[in-house]
Amino acid sequence: MGNVFNLRSLVRKNIWDIKPYSSARDEYSGEAAVFLDANENPYSVAGQEARNRYPDPYQRELKQAVAEIKGLPAENIFLGNGSDEAIDLLYNIFCSPGADAAVISSPTYGMYSVSANTNDCRIIDIPLKNGVQLDSEAILQSCSGAKLVFICSPNNPTGNLLDTSEIEALLAQYKGIVVIDEAYIDYSGALSWSKRLGEFPNLVVLQTFSKAWGLANIRLGMMFASKEIIALANKIKLPYNISGIVQEYALRAIESKKNTISSIVAETIASRDELCRELCKMSFVIKVLPSDANFVLVKTTCPKEIYQYLLSNKIVIRDRSSLLYCQGAIRITIGTPEENRQLIEALKQFGRD
Ligand SMILES: *Cc1c(COP(=O)(O)O)cnc(C)c1O
Repeated sequence: MGNVFNLRSLVRKNIWDIKPYSSARDEYSGEAAVFLDANENPYSVAGQEARNRYPDPYQRELKQAVAEIKGLPAENIFLGNGSDEAIDLLYNIFCSPGADAAVISSPTYGMYSVSANTNDCRIIDIPLKNGVQLDSEAILQSCSGAKLVFICSPNNPTGNLLDTSEIEALLAQYKGIVVIDEAYIDYSGALSWSKRLGEFPNLVVLQTFSKAWGLANIRLGMMFASKEIIALANKIKLPYNISGIVQEYALRAIESKKNTISSIVAETIASRDELCRELCKMSFVIKVLPSDANFVLVKTTCPKEIYQYLLSNKIVIRDRSSLLYCQGAIRITIGTPEENRQLIEALKQFGRD
């Protein structure tokens, strides 16, 4: 089956036709001496650093730094207010409210459906096989009418990488957009799908500074895709979606931390493996799912009781037992060795009570 990909036929007509808002900084971004074009206050009134000027709407300097660490051209990169902004923009670009659909595979990250709902887009749920693995065949059979397929690998909340062959089959045969959310890729040792953008014009990859980079607070997400898809996102995003403070902060973080992230990740992975071994010994643990991420999903006999008990010990985890195919499941983020030790102590005590 040949894959005839036609971007224009997937994009909402109004979005394709939009003439974007042109900000003052769009029209002039050079090194002038006197800026009287953006109705800014010439005086920096508040704060210690001057913040009276609008930031670069396309984050050129930061994007160049991201391009270098990711080994991708800047034209294939979009930066968003968290990857959540990119998810919402994808719905905006491709899914006409009240008409189009997107595919998800439960159990998975909640924002794909929340964003579908706010955009009045129908969700087609093709659950993961055995609750853990992508079912590309079932997706291909049921996806007619869907513009987007969301894949999360490593998947939240199950923690596992999805099979390369299943994803390849989907990318090769599906005529819509395949979005691969790689929020946890740094913990997995897998090669990013962004390395294969040249092979698949329908591929969109999401990553974030919120996890391995430890910058959840600044809200900075990345989207990698063909330059045509990136251009559409740039066309419809809010003009100044990343503040100047965030751009400068992230740039400094990349410059100073790019060589230390992998050792922090390795520490988290070692802690994860140790935590898994401890959890497996506990009487109320049925199964610890193998994880390629910085959290583990644990099937237990009594998730609500564990959750409440830990809370009474000032430890908060996530009760995921109400999700489809997650009966008895709790999700535990890997903390520092000291935090993990406190968790294990509390769980041992729970087992004794
Ligand atoms: C944490 C997480 C993100 C990150 O979202 P941001 O908006 O970038 O903080 C994205 N996808 C998944 C699956 C996540 O678990």
